[in-house]
Amino acid sequence: MHSKFNFSAGPAALPQPVLKRAQAELLDWNGQGTSVMEVSHRGKPFMAVAEKAERDLRDIMHIPDNYKVLFLQGGGRGQFFSVPMNLAQRGDLSQHLVSGQWSQIAVAEAEKYMSAEVVAKTQTRDNMLWVPNQEHWDINPEAAYFHYCPNETVDGIEINWVPKSQDVPIVADMSSNILSKAIDVSDYGIIYAGAQKNIGPSGLAVVIIRDDLLGFARKDTPAVFDYQQQVNNDSMYNTPPTFSWYLAGLVFEWLKEQGGVQAIEKINTQKAKLLYSCIDASDFYGNKIDPSNRSKMNVTFQLADSSLDSLFLEKAEEAGLVALKGHRFVGGMRASIYNAMPLEGVEALVSFMQEFERTNA
Ligand SMILES: *Cc1c(COP(=O)(O)O)cnc(C)c1O
Repeated sequence: MHSKFNFSAGPAALPQPVLKRAQAELLDWNGQGTSVMEVSHRGKPFMAVAEKAERDLRDIMHIPDNYKVLFLQGGGRGQFFSVPMNLAQRGDLSQHLVSGQWSQIAVAEAEKYMSAEVVAKTQTRDNMLWVPNQEHWDINPEAAYFHYCPNETVDGIEINWVPKSQDVPIVADMSSNILSKAIDVSDYGIIYAGAQKNIGPSGLAVVIIRDDLLGFARKDTPAVFDYQQQVNNDSMYNTPPTFSWYLAGLVFEWLKEQGGVQAIEKINTQKAKLLYSCIDASDFYGNKIDPSNRSKMNVTFQLADSSLDSLFLEKAEEAGLVALKGHRFVGGMRASIYNAMPLEGVEALVSFMQEFERTNA
């Protein structure tokens, strides 16, 4: 049972059954008489955990055989520099779609290693924020890679199409929408995600890379961040974040039990629809994102009268609905409704919002 519904953007809520299992196994894992944190990463018991986690992720996402999967440290931002460093020998130009805060930060990091070019940015269309699609810009075939962020966690902007290029690998920061819906991995050169939204504990990064993109690292790339080195060592060149890897594995198992991404996508769609309908149904609440770019994971909304913001948050907290404050750059509210947020959590939020409007409008 949920005592509270946690709408945190990240680190975010984890599935309750996963936490319960981790709790039950904490002191005596796998009959070892120790916790999973205290055993060698190279021993058979942990290797089995690591391999199963990768196998389950491959299953869930239908990752083709010519893609490698890495479990690395440094979270999402660690990949902002790892990507340019590891692809530097493919060329010294990266191209970027900037759809919000995170893809903007990725440009700033890439610029340290190559010339980073922004091909398009989120713009205002009919007073709504909208991400121009590929009819409005081109990808330079000379670019070493093209980077974008399909779900902007801070802004609540999601992109439901994939940029296409014959020659240029598409790199996607899926930190906040990986595993939320079915995708075709072969559309991408590299997919990466910091774990703390839809995978597991913070600090871990999952990287899925097409194998022909290996071997282009700058000579000065630190070994722990060198994709090829990590591939050669099954992500164990350095000691991996074993507890996070184990927990990610439990989340993958849980997701499989839910019916995988197809099943969770249906629930995610239902959750988002319910919440956006509530926002759209009144002038008391508003959302500034073009309907085609509304995020199913991070729903941002504003109270028409922002002087009620702190009362809204206070009352929500009393009702057991926590972490609804919007990012400091954006203001207003944000409800992050990742895979682990059950439908009942969104139903509870919607009831609260309707009641708050009734008593404060
Ligand atoms: C959270 C987030 C990041 C940053 O992840 P860290 O693990 O804090 O470095 C990067 N990109 C996106 C889209 C995110 O949501």
